[in-house]
Amino acid sequence: MAFGAPIDYSDILNYYDIPPPKKHSENEVKIGFWAHDSFSLYEPFPISNSSTLSDSQKNKFLQQLDLVIKKSHVEQYLGFSICRICRCHNGAQEYYFKAKNGKTYVFPQGYQHYIKDHNVAINQEFFNIVMLFKE
Ligand SMILES: [Zn+2]
Repeated sequence: MAFGAPIDYSDILNYYDIPPPKKHSENEVKIGFWAHDSFSLYEPFPISNSSTLSDSQKNKFLQQLDLVIKKSHVEQYLGFSICRICRCHNGAQEYYFKAKNGKTYVFPQGYQHYIKDHNVAINQEFFNIVMLFKE
């Protein structure tokens, strides 16, 4: 291709045709794992201000989430996660929470940042699980 020629992106999906992230088990539910860019086929991109919760509902959720995190198994990443919206360094761990419904919810350390600072909508099933959690 000549230097300066327009790049043909028509086959770009082929470059991203990688299998979805592996699950440890079928009962695992991944929450808050975002696409790296708009070409990702398997994960959504976070949308600012997509939450319709009030501040008090959101704060209650975040308090509850802290309790859930204390009961979660922690895995350390090899590197940092970067916020998909503001590009800040956003955590280096992920949490595995085994709920009473038999499912394990997996979410990254940076999940709270998306809710707190970008008002990203919370998955409804995960919201209910977290709000119902009792120590
Ligand atoms: Zn951010």
